[in-house]
Amino acid sequence: FNSTTYQWPANSVIRKKLQGYVGFANLPNQVHRKSVKKGFHFTTMVVGESGLGKSTLVNTLFNTTLYPAKNDTVELSPEVPKTVEIQAITADIEENGVKLRLTVVDTPGFGDFVNNEESWKPILDNIEARFDAYLEQENRVNRHKMVDNRIHACIYFIQPTGHALKPLDIEFMRRLHTRVNLIPVIAKSDTLTEEEIRVFKERILADITHHNIHIYQAPQYEYDDSETISENREIMAKIPFAIVGSDKEVEAEGGRRVRGRKYPWGVIEVDNEEHCDFVKLRQMLIRTHMEELKEYTNDVLYENYRTEKLMAMGIQQDPSVFKEVNPLQKMEEERQLHETKLAKMESEMKMVFQAKVQEKEAKLKQSEEELYARHKEMKEALEKQRLELEEKKRRIESGRPITPEKKQKKGFSFNK
Ligand code: GDP
Repeated sequence: FNSTTYQWPANSVIRKKLQGYVGFANLPNQVHRKSVKKGFHFTTMVVGESGLGKSTLVNTLFNTTLYPAKNDTVELSPEVPKTVEIQAITADIEENGVKLRLTVVDTPGFGDFVNNEESWKPILDNIEARFDAYLEQENRVNRHKMVDNRIHACIYFIQPTGHALKPLDIEFMRRLHTRVNLIPVIAKSDTLTEEEIRVFKERILADITHHNIHIYQAPQYEYDDSETISENREIMAKIPFAIVGSDKEVEAEGGRRVRGRKYPWGVIEVDNEEHCDFVKLRQMLIRTHMEELKEYTNDVLYENYRTEKLMAMGIQQDPSVFKEVNPLQKMEEERQLHETKLAKMESEMKMVFQAKVQEKEAKLKQSEEELYARHKEMKEALEKQRLELEEKKRRIESGRPITPEKKQKKGFSFNK
């Protein structure tokens, strides 16, 4: 991974051998074998205020220390950044021979200032810059070595207040939902009771619906087997995932060593579905939906961005184009144009047809008249012949000699 090609700061590659089970060995079931050989590449972003457990969750998810442990007593570093920073860490991890190149993009500083109004801006800029880098590669002649650094999922950490979403949360999600797959999680859910979590989840979802925010939804396919469908439903029913992170092992009931957090009243186990939704989040992100998240990023989020970008380029070239650029309006205009064209063609065809008919009618009339005239002529000739024959007959009968025709005609003085 060449961090100099792209401008994201603090990119470093850590090569890890995994100790425990993560679950991406299941990835070959998601995609074609070619990807198994090449390895998988997945980029996830974590956003949330400092101290909500982002680094811990990433370490817990991938079962590896991507982020160095922070001093539990000093949660905020003494040098608090003045702006939201974007930091990327890339690690190659391997499980049962399946390679995964994982990039985690952290956003320290988000929500940590007195004025957090524009906290979302550098994050949106970074996501779009990654889209731009991809677009630039697509436009190159040689597209063989495309590097996909787009963010495939954004885990958004909600503070476990138990009340409702904060304006900061709403603003962030509203600004970002058309650019990235949003996966909201309730941070440090071990600080809430089961009932508090249930109510909090309902409020969060109500807020999300109220503000027309689109969070990631797993698609349902007709060809999915019933097991996959129910698995998907179970995962989706848990959103926003109430999570607990811990990269430390503690001693649970019966002396078992588990990843979890120890309290005077007992142990919260990270990998126990009865205790939190961590397993479901990991299942979705790594085992079942990694490819879906990448596909949705490419087919919908990136594609929409690309279209908007191309249209915006139209504005710069000619401001008057802008009004016509609305795709729906453009389609409607094209349809109307097409219809006018059709109508014009139809009326032209009608006119040609009528002219042809008139021409034919005139011709018919003419030949009719000609026929009539000929008929009349023939009739008259026949009548004349008849009269002549009758005259002849009469003369023969009366015994008179037949006079030459000319004289007879003269003397005949027509029907007298
Ligand atoms: P970040 O600033 O968002 O990256 O947060 P860290 O991962 O550095 O965690 C900050 C502090 O919260 C550390 O002391 C962690 O041990 C603690 N922490 C992390 N996850 C949890 C959790 O799920 N529950 C509780 N109670 N504490 C947590």
